[in-house]
Amino acid sequence: MSQSPLPFSRPSIDEATIAAVGEVLRSGWITSGPKVQAFEAALSALLGNRIVRTYNSGTCTMEIALRIAGIGPGDEVITTPISWVATANVIIEVGATPVFADIDPVTRNIDLDKLEAAITPRTRAIIPVYLAGMPVDMDRLYAIAGKHGLRVVEDAAQALGSSWKGKPIGSFGDFVSFSFQANKNITTSEGGCLVVNDADEAKLAEKFRLQGVVRSGLDGIDVDVLGGKFNMTDIAAAIGLGQLPHLDAITARRRALARHYFACFGDDFEETTGAQLPVRDFQNTNWHLFQIVLPERITRAEFMAKMLEHQIACGYHYAPIHLFTLYRERGFKEGMFPVAERVGRQIVTLPMFFALTENDVERTVGAVKSVLQQ
Ligand SMILES: *Cc1c(COP(=O)(O)O)cnc(C)c1O
Repeated sequence: MSQSPLPFSRPSIDEATIAAVGEVLRSGWITSGPKVQAFEAALSALLGNRIVRTYNSGTCTMEIALRIAGIGPGDEVITTPISWVATANVIIEVGATPVFADIDPVTRNIDLDKLEAAITPRTRAIIPVYLAGMPVDMDRLYAIAGKHGLRVVEDAAQALGSSWKGKPIGSFGDFVSFSFQANKNITTSEGGCLVVNDADEAKLAEKFRLQGVVRSGLDGIDVDVLGGKFNMTDIAAAIGLGQLPHLDAITARRRALARHYFACFGDDFEETTGAQLPVRDFQNTNWHLFQIVLPERITRAEFMAKMLEHQIACGYHYAPIHLFTLYRERGFKEGMFPVAERVGRQIVTLPMFFALTENDVERTVGAVKSVLQQ
């Protein structure tokens, strides 16, 4: 009997969405057009009527936010070492200097005390990441930014559907970037969006999206900034429009699955195994990921291999960015961010997606317990 292992993430695309994509393909207009405009309007309605522009990734959105803020050579930008490498790469991409601050061992997000300690006269912006969908203390974050005159580019790639004190992430704050990559809670296969603050920023957000072009009249065209090729297609936007109405149900389902994980692990799991569960938060986080930190007596590779014997394919999010060759070449090394290094070595992602069943959760927890108690 061959059975493919349970994945840690899987998109759910309904038949109506598949049909809508077919309609776009038949319409004669398959690049950015009416579906992109409709998707931007729907996102804006979801995010407190702020201005939202869509892109072909949740990486270029952050790069463009930094460019809109005028950040470049000589400027420092502070972020976390535990994120997808995109978060730090965009800082290098605009010619600025990435600065890391260690993470909080409980939330696994950037430690705001260490972030504040890393601020220098050259610091221009901070990029907080909401790992697994859990926001940082947003009041404290914006108090720090305000006090030091810093821009904030929120890497909310994983946090669509998350909130802070009842307000959706993205409905307040400075720049907010979301990703619609295939594993995210809402997908367009690949894609992203950026929330900006005003009409001037929106104009720049559009220019940077498409070669810096500004059109006027029937044949007027000018280019006054260096933009790239980052526009979303109507095919992708049609997928997003099909997904977005399900956001509340998706978030509710993930929260219910997270509760089931905790119930199955039980109260003594951490004590008996030395593993660490995530924060039990059912108000703010959208439970994009359900991650545990393994005890040091087992390597993550050993754990993942043994879970595969139980037909469960775990993931890991993330390896510490500062230890990648590109970053070592810029002077980063082991020992600089000890919490991130330990968590980055031992963190593992268990299955969590809309179509996951209670039985899948029970099977996963049973496998984790048997692997860790061996
Ligand atoms: C997915 C993700 C990104 C990048 O998004 P893409 O759409 O793949 O470019 C950036 N940061 C975090 C934290 C992510 O999870």
